[in-house]
Order: sequence, then structure tokens, then C-alpha cells
Amino acid sequence: MDYRIRTWPDRILKQKMKEVDFFDEKLQNYIDIMFKRMYEEEGVGLAANQIGIPYQILVLDTNVKKYDAQEKEEEGIKMALINPKIVEKEGQVESTEGCLSFPGVQITIPRAERVKVIAKNEKGEDIEIDTDGFLAIVLQHEIDHLNGIPFINHLPPVKRRLVLDKYLKNKKQTAKAR
Ligand SMILES: [Zn+2]
Repeated sequence: MDYRIRTWPDRILKQKMKEVDFFDEKLQNYIDIMFKRMYEEEGVGLAANQIGIPYQILVLDTNVKKYDAQEKEEEGIKMALINPKIVEKEGQVESTEGCLSFPGVQITIPRAERVKVIAKNEKGEDIEIDTDGFLAIVLQHEIDHLNGIPFINHLPPVKRRLVLDKYLKNKKQTAKAR
């Protein structure tokens, strides 16, 4: 496997990923590759399907990009989450996001302000994260990926069509130019 970034409309980005039931070297190997690829692409977070790994694994490191330089410095956090699920959502914020699987696209969409996520760590132990701010946004974006939901799905249909048409047109032109 080459672990290149899969871009929309790659099928794997539309599928719900399989639950991980192996907490061993194979899993650790996937996590290591995901962190490596995420840093290479300067992403803040990466879902396994974005590089062709068909399991519910996500990695993130909010040190990669500070959310807003104006904002009070938030302590960065680095973690890998296995089989993550959002079990509570609260409030609403407008979030401006990009995605490695949609090069050149930046959109503003509604997200929950606070989320509670349950998951396993790489050892198979239960973890629970209750958070708001930038981390809550990254978690929602990446967990969506693992469920086959791209961030453009949070746009109203007409706007989504426009964004998608423009993206696909650019993608075609880039492919031609190569
Ligand atoms: Zn993404």
C-alpha cells in the first residue's frame, strides 16, 4: 500500500470504516504511518481512510496549527483514537475548515461547540474526552471521515453543489496540467 492521500470522490471516503479488534503491532504500525503521513502533509488530524487504511483509527496533533493566533494559547494535544464515537454534543459554533482530501477547499460550517467522545487507546483501554474549542472541531471532522461523511455534507445542498463543482473542475484542470 502506498498510503497516499485519498481525495474526493475516492470511494473509501464515502464508507464507514471497520471497528478495530486488534490491539497489537499491526495497529501500532498503522498509527505510526498515520502520524508520519499527517506531519508530512501538515495536517492537524488524519482519519485512516484518508490514506487507504480501512479501520476506525484517527490521529491528531493540535500543535501542528494554532487555531487562532489571537486566541489565548491552548495547550496542544497529540493522540491516536481507536473506534471513536461522539456520545454527547452541545452548543453550536461556525467553523472554517480545510481537508487534505479536498485540496484547495475551505468552507465554513456549523459544528457542535462541545463534544464528549468515547474511544480506545492503542492498548485497547477505554478513554473518554470531554472538550470544546479547536480539539472538539478536529474530533468532529475526523470522526465524520471514519463514518464516510465528508465535511461538505454540512453545507446546505445548493452551496454544497457549487463548492463541489468548483472543486471537481479544478481537480480536472490540475490532472490535465500534469
Ligand atoms: Zn478531512
